[in-house]
Amino acid sequence: MIPGPIEFEPEVLRAMAVQTTSHVAANFIDVFGNCLGLMKNIWGAPTGQPFIIAGSGTLAMDMAASNLVEPGDHVLVISSGYFGSRFKDIFDRYGAKTTLLTAPLGEVVPTDVIEMELQRKSYKLLTMTHVDTSTGVLIQPEPIAQLAKKYQVLSILDGVCSVGGEEIKQEAWGIDVVLTASQKAIGVPPGLALLVASQRAMQSWQQRTTPVLNYYADWGNWLPIMTAYEERRPSYFGTPPVNLIAALEISLHMIDREGIENRVQRHQALAHAFRSAILALGLQLLPFDQSHAANTLTAIYYPEGINGALLCAKMADHDVLIAGGLLPDIKAKYFRIGHMGSVSQNDLVATLSALEYALFELDYAFEPGTGLKTFQDIVFSSTSAEGFAKV
Ligand code: PMP
Repeated sequence: MIPGPIEFEPEVLRAMAVQTTSHVAANFIDVFGNCLGLMKNIWGAPTGQPFIIAGSGTLAMDMAASNLVEPGDHVLVISSGYFGSRFKDIFDRYGAKTTLLTAPLGEVVPTDVIEMELQRKSYKLLTMTHVDTSTGVLIQPEPIAQLAKKYQVLSILDGVCSVGGEEIKQEAWGIDVVLTASQKAIGVPPGLALLVASQRAMQSWQQRTTPVLNYYADWGNWLPIMTAYEERRPSYFGTPPVNLIAALEISLHMIDREGIENRVQRHQALAHAFRSAILALGLQLLPFDQSHAANTLTAIYYPEGINGALLCAKMADHDVLIAGGLLPDIKAKYFRIGHMGSVSQNDLVATLSALEYALFELDYAFEPGTGLKTFQDIVFSSTSAEGFAKV
């Protein structure tokens, strides 16, 4: 139950074990082309340009940054945790002049603060983290993307911990780049950087006057490859990870069959019931306001007087693996539980059961069963089972 890599569906894992075909074999060209088409549906970007590259989420960030900025460009990084600072480091490496707007711990940067900053300076682009995996904070990307449009700034959404689990309508919301990695709500083992760029972003890249400073990530190398796969033609720049892409096709088909809206609703319903259970246990959530709490993971403070490392170890004894803190300043004070991808209500019942057991063993004062009952009450009282079950 860590926030990535998540647990993968057996069908997805089986695709990793089949014989590896040539990257220009007809059957693989189809698989790759299908993945690119499915990404557009799932991202809500019918006219977007998808990219699938071997690498992790950081490469997707690196690709967006290196293709869209030139030395001296102004970039606004809106941060709600650890991953905003990483984006700043990447832009700094490419010679951009970066301004970091950091939200107070557990909160989001208000849109009026963002607008004031956009009025103050002429920015080339802004970035935002949809769900910051270090804090469990979820932002609303649409108003920020609209502001970016108003001030003619490109917008990039780090969706590593959100795509496939949180609501995203890239084109309707006007976001120029939505990027992610395979190992979270997309449901494929680590190793794929996934990105969809708007036509506006592609034009901005075409109008560059200086070369892209990252050879591997240069869209000039990859655009002809993606176009060829979309048109079902063979092509080569760098050998793609054939088995991972076969696994991606299976997972994207599963997401498409469930329906992205149903899938998002499942994540929201489960996360809401889970957060309510955590609060009923008397524990405190890291996101300040529940309306800013992610649906793909929950970040929770250890209760006063409870040894965090022991709590995690005891949960592991009860077969549930959770993640510790990530934000350096408060790393030892909180833990994180991932609930994305193929997560079910039974997974969360097992997690709450292990958590209660661990708390009980550590002499935390509470009524055993409180969390479980709250969770089940919410699940059972929902007028229909809709939202909770995989379709
Ligand atoms: N952004 C966010 C929000 C993330 O959660 C992560 C990974 N946890 C990254 C970027 C970086 O992705 P990766 O570890 O795959 O490089």
